[in-house]
Amino acid sequence: MTGAGAGAGVGAGAGARLRAVFCDVGGPIYDDENFVAAVLTALDELRAADGLGPADRGAFRVLYDRSRAAQGVSLRGALAEEFLGSASRRGELHERTREHWFHPPGTLYDDVLPFFRSLREVAESLGSPVAVGVLANQEAPVVEALERDGVAPYIDVWGVSAIVGYEKPSPELFRWALDAAGVQPHEAVHIGNRLDTDVRPAAALGLGTVWVLRGEAPDEPTAEQLAEPDIAVPGLEGLAPRLESLVASRGAA
Ligand SMILES: [Mg+2]
Repeated sequence: MTGAGAGAGVGAGAGARLRAVFCDVGGPIYDDENFVAAVLTALDELRAADGLGPADRGAFRVLYDRSRAAQGVSLRGALAEEFLGSASRRGELHERTREHWFHPPGTLYDDVLPFFRSLREVAESLGSPVAVGVLANQEAPVVEALERDGVAPYIDVWGVSAIVGYEKPSPELFRWALDAAGVQPHEAVHIGNRLDTDVRPAAALGLGTVWVLRGEAPDEPTAEQLAEPDIAVPGLEGLAPRLESLVASRGAA
């Protein structure tokens, strides 16, 4: 794999080198149930202010699973309509959710630190730097959680929406991260667990894409959905060594 660099003789479209890896946070790094807990607390508070009881958990899961399956439906709008009486209250729900959204100790996936260690080994074997970034719609305290859990030392680029001021799926957050890493889109890979906010916007800009099938990803993705990313994986185990060839094969295409 490391022989795929300059002069490897794979033709005029010789593959690009891997120079940056960006990673979503909710799903790939932390359990999306942290977000679910925040939304449910927010719904319960807003309903209590209206004199209503807690949101029905079963009904919540139906809407949540429908949103996961579709990979493009506004979950907030559907939740606001179902539990707050109007989809127009989605902004209110969003703001209240932000106040409760944390990543408690113990919610980092077990394969995260091995993945970033492995990625560092890949960069060393390449003999050229690979910038590593988070690229996520998250609140600022996520940085403290990543420091607490030992992830921060691996991160060069902090593409956190609440800090940078751009949100996925807007291309601005991706462009900001590419600029911060000093790389071109075809030299970078984005890893995320949603098609609508990760895979599609990243692919549209020309980044390689990895779809991680956990959290907000569907339990049973369709063939059409699985065809959208360059690769789909159940988790981060074994992923790092595949990223260089992913970029090289796309660059040669
Ligand atoms: Mg995510």
